[in-house]
Amino acid sequence: MTYVVIGGGIVGACAAYYLSQKGEQEVILIDQAFEGKATSAGAGIICPWISRVDDPDWFAIASKGALYYPELIASLEADGNTETGYGFTGALATSDDWEELKELKKKVEKHKESYAAVGDIKLLEAPKAQDYFPGLDENLHALYISGSARLDGRLLAKALVKGFKQNGGKVIEEKVSLIKDSDHRLIIETSEGNIQADQVIVAAGAWTGDLLKPVGVAINQEVQRGQIVHLTVDEDTSNWPVVLPQDSSHYMVSFNDNRIAFGATRETGSGFDYRVTSGGVHEVLHEGLCVAPGLADATFKEVRVGFRPMSPDKNPLLGKVSGFENLIIATGLGASGLTMGPYVGSLAARLALEEAIDLDLTPYDPLR
Ligand code: FAD
Repeated sequence: MTYVVIGGGIVGACAAYYLSQKGEQEVILIDQAFEGKATSAGAGIICPWISRVDDPDWFAIASKGALYYPELIASLEADGNTETGYGFTGALATSDDWEELKELKKKVEKHKESYAAVGDIKLLEAPKAQDYFPGLDENLHALYISGSARLDGRLLAKALVKGFKQNGGKVIEEKVSLIKDSDHRLIIETSEGNIQADQVIVAAGAWTGDLLKPVGVAINQEVQRGQIVHLTVDEDTSNWPVVLPQDSSHYMVSFNDNRIAFGATRETGSGFDYRVTSGGVHEVLHEGLCVAPGLADATFKEVRVGFRPMSPDKNPLLGKVSGFENLIIATGLGASGLTMGPYVGSLAARLALEEAIDLDLTPYDPLR
């Protein structure tokens, strides 16, 4: 059997890795890594427990996504791929409104009844939260949730591709296109000739619609630009928790290399406009420094730009496509792709392998 995955972001890389673990098959991962690849720009918050998205279908797949990580990381580490970018740092939901955080605590405690992975939950009265995240506004209270993580998407995608190659997988680095034969099978056109595969997983992120258009498949997905600023400080930030201000969609994520990301713009309607804008940088710096004024002296390192693949209802576009013998779509993960991506990639692989799946995929129909 031959399996092809198009797209080496978090979804495609994980699908390819999963397939490659099954032995015997030929698995090919195709990725051109366009400017704006979302996985390379994503902030990396993995904390579905306090999300404002109020949709049980979203929560079902996002929580499974968060729970899938320890298994995936253990599998990569067992193969010697220890630089995964995953860190179990916990999260701080911040607010100057103590009552609001008490309400949030009740919601998170409810989740903990079903998901022990939520971990410890505790309220921190101002300025106690500064002990967890130096630089925070001293007037902010916080709700600390230990069962939250952060991820460096670049490192995880790299580790997955390395593991994939160790398992015998083949990588093609080029932009490919699709055609359809008279038996309703997708064919992949590459510079080295056409590939006929038993199953093709299209995980091409924000570019999925463009890739599928020539074969007559229309998906309901928009491109949303995100600009995110990275700062560095002279402190060890590796265990600093993710900061999620409750009055804003902005946030802070810290990494091992003294780096803190202030994210991010949500520019619906941007199209594939790969630019850093003055308004975008101003927005994220302003919002970030309002929450953590103590970081005003941090060094400005860089701005990353990514294109989120947005479905109409924030749920993934995932599943087989009727009318085709060998097409599976896995995209549309929007602002939660680093949370759900590995799990969604594994589901796409399981669909290709016709393995049993522990989730009803009806709400995620890729052509809805
Ligand atoms: P991508 O990572 O975009 O990968 C798709 C790949 O397919 C690309 O490499 C592209 O070049 C390739 N491709 C496309 N067409 C072709 C072709 N024809 N031939 C060859 N290759 C092709 N999610 C969270 O859970 N938490 C966060 O904190 C978070 N923060 C974010 C912050 C920002 C600023 C952004 C932009 C996103 C954030 N996300 C976050 C969302 C997350 O990053 C994305 O949802 C996720 O990375 C999407 O992964 P993907 O694999 O679907 O797509």
